[in-house]
Amino acid sequence: MTLFDLNGKTALVTGGNGGIGLGMAQGLVQAGARVAIAGRDPAKNAHAAKALDAIALEADLKDEKACRALVDEAARRLGRLDILINNAGINVRKQPQEFTLDEWRLVMDTNLTSAFVAAQTAYPHMKKAGGGKIINIGSMMSIFGASFTTAYAASKGGIVQMTRALATAWARDNIQVNAVLPGWIDTALTRGARADVKGLHENVLRRTPTGRWGEPADLSGIAVFLSSKASDFVTGTAIPVDGGYSVQG
Ligand code: NDP
Repeated sequence: MTLFDLNGKTALVTGGNGGIGLGMAQGLVQAGARVAIAGRDPAKNAHAAKALDAIALEADLKDEKACRALVDEAARRLGRLDILINNAGINVRKQPQEFTLDEWRLVMDTNLTSAFVAAQTAYPHMKKAGGGKIINIGSMMSIFGASFTTAYAASKGGIVQMTRALATAWARDNIQVNAVLPGWIDTALTRGARADVKGLHENVLRRTPTGRWGEPADLSGIAVFLSSKASDFVTGTAIPVDGGYSVQG
């Protein structure tokens, strides 16, 4: 088995029916893993399942019971669960003074609490198998702030701290937990942001040293690295995949 080979490994990618999740799932499939993807939209699920030759599971992850059932079902259908990618996420874009508590909770429950619940449910499966890999998707908003993204930034900052805590808790179980912080990637989520936030598109191009938006496929490699034996001594990190956005002075 080579360092990056995922033959014999199984993975659940939440929000794997489109955007970054699909890009990561594609990387895992190419490396040999058997993959289950999860989302709410049956049409997107069916499309991704066909493209990936993967299992598609329908679930609303902000519902605790549905989230736990999803992880157990993925482990059952795949026969084991080696890799969990907590990628499902949403944003509500408005100024902080305009947020309702329901909107705040919607973002926190979807982006942060569901990742905790999924990781907690995956833990016994991984422990029983002798180890595992958990990858949590953060954001540039794990590092920076923006006026229109208070709940999202709070959830993505929380992803990084939760990753560090889980990594320390489960290191002796041979479970590595890492976060990936994508830069500005062209997906349904950011197409919405581009429509809502004036000048965003130009700002991203100007601010990103590589001079382009990322594509979901730009996240395939990091997903394979953090899922494979190559990263067995890497845990608790938060790795930007951002075309240099976060290091530009
Ligand atoms: P998309 O909108 O393309 O994908 C979001 C995914 O999450 C979809 O598959 C969606 O599936 C799923 N999802 C959302 N809410 C739920 C829910 N309640 N239950 C189950 N699935 C859900 O966005 P991206 O690909 O851009 O985003 C993926 C992740 O990457 C998010 O966590 C996002 O915050 C993060 N990110 C994105 C960046 C970007 O520039 N695009 C930058 C940094 C981070 P469905 O609609 O079927 O439920």
